[in-house]
Amino acid sequence: MELIKEQQEYASTTGLSEALETLLPALETFLAFAEPEQTALQREIWSAQLDEPLPQVGCGAEGVLQELRDVVIPNGLHCGAPGFSGWVATSPTTIPAVTHLASALVGSPCLGIQAFNFLENLGMSWLKSLIGLPESFQGLFTSGGSVANLLGLGAARQHAFEREGIDPARDGVAALPKPRIYASEETHHIIYRAAAVFGLGRSAVVMLPANERMQIDVASLRERVLRDREEGCTPVAVMANAGTTSTGAVDPLAELGAFCHEQNIWLHVDGAYGLLGVLDPSVKHLFGDLALADSLVVDPHKWMATSMGSGAIIVRDKALLERAFMLLPAVYIEGSQPVQQEDGPLTSQFDGFGYPFHELGFEHTLPSRGVEVWALLKEIGVEGIRARVCRHNEYARNLAEAIQASPNLELAAPVMLSTFCYRYIPSSLQAVDEPTRSADLNRLNQQLLTRVRARGRSMPSATFVRGNFVLRSCFINPRTTYEDILTLIDEIELCGAEVSASLGF
Ligand SMILES: *Cc1c(COP(=O)(O)O)cnc(C)c1O
Repeated sequence: MELIKEQQEYASTTGLSEALETLLPALETFLAFAEPEQTALQREIWSAQLDEPLPQVGCGAEGVLQELRDVVIPNGLHCGAPGFSGWVATSPTTIPAVTHLASALVGSPCLGIQAFNFLENLGMSWLKSLIGLPESFQGLFTSGGSVANLLGLGAARQHAFEREGIDPARDGVAALPKPRIYASEETHHIIYRAAAVFGLGRSAVVMLPANERMQIDVASLRERVLRDREEGCTPVAVMANAGTTSTGAVDPLAELGAFCHEQNIWLHVDGAYGLLGVLDPSVKHLFGDLALADSLVVDPHKWMATSMGSGAIIVRDKALLERAFMLLPAVYIEGSQPVQQEDGPLTSQFDGFGYPFHELGFEHTLPSRGVEVWALLKEIGVEGIRARVCRHNEYARNLAEAIQASPNLELAAPVMLSTFCYRYIPSSLQAVDEPTRSADLNRLNQQLLTRVRARGRSMPSATFVRGNFVLRSCFINPRTTYEDILTLIDEIELCGAEVSASLGF
């Protein structure tokens, strides 16, 4: 037999240390956040440097590393900067980030009899215990809250249909009369997409008005569910918020738990951002008994500051997830596994899947994500994550007090967790009533946000509360200090006065 000649592999498969050493100084510099970012202003420069046609011949490892070091890393996103309090996003701390690299290199896919697969389970078990859920609940790490919520609603759909004797995963959804998912209007907009993906349709979502505390009103919910039932609708789930993205409101979870139990409706708790708020003794009561929920979502890539791409769905009944997302066996995978003798010796880590996480969700080849949760909790313990959550909630409460004490600032929504919403009201508009001044204030606060961001010391975001444009800060960022929140309030006052003057208010 004639063997072909050894062929060259073009990608480098060695030299990891040198590659990392090339990038480390640039990463360290970036993460020091010493200067406000210039990236947006310089977009033309760096995008021109990066923009090139598909190379027919590669430039080699060095060329890539140099470009990463000199152009890409310095122009990354400053959402981990201490002054950033926008959205619900931050950069990972050191250990989860380094663990991410380790996982990419040696832990993925998250299959097989291996340490990363084991830690996927242990990380989930720790996460449940952290939140106070019984060990009997089971979960799956996902790419984020969108997918985690989707999976939770998938389990809810399976549950609702099975009670009518239908298997929607097998037979489709046409048979279920008028499915309904209930939520407050403050709920994250991914709920509509989830309803669409599951064939229930966006019109299955019933958005109920929020009360003055930005929560779902359980009396209106009750009224609506009873009326819908009379009209032949099928309640599939109540989607409750444990920390809305907009204002951080926690729905009355204890009351919802009792209502859903009484009505036999699936209770799904979206705590992508705020579920870890339960760790703070001063607000723990808001969360009621989380074990009353049928499914819960929490995003490690938010308050736990793991690297981005980490959400989690936790359900009471894992078998429902399995039935909802069941994979039929494939000859090239399950069918081709040697039949393991019971108690027979393992000959290799490829003789089994380990914990078969790919059977609980959508993803098949999936990375090891839970290892970052494990790493963070091992690094800082319950004590460390609780301290972070308490500190951030306290920042928000302190700022809320400062805002209420300031003549020109108004708190726009109650503060329950680490999010607070506020707007600037110049003295000339303070006595004017709401509909009359609303457009002026919206314009002023929009310009205020732009000016604060341009100065680069503080970076809040914004939202609408009852139709008013308001600034919004959400503290989940481990790098934010007390000094940064003092800076934030100074910046708002200063820029508010400047913008008011420039607009002639
Ligand atoms: C962030 C968030 C989501 C969406 O999660 P992703 O991780 O962005 O996919 C859903 N619900 C709430 C309450 C959130 O804060």
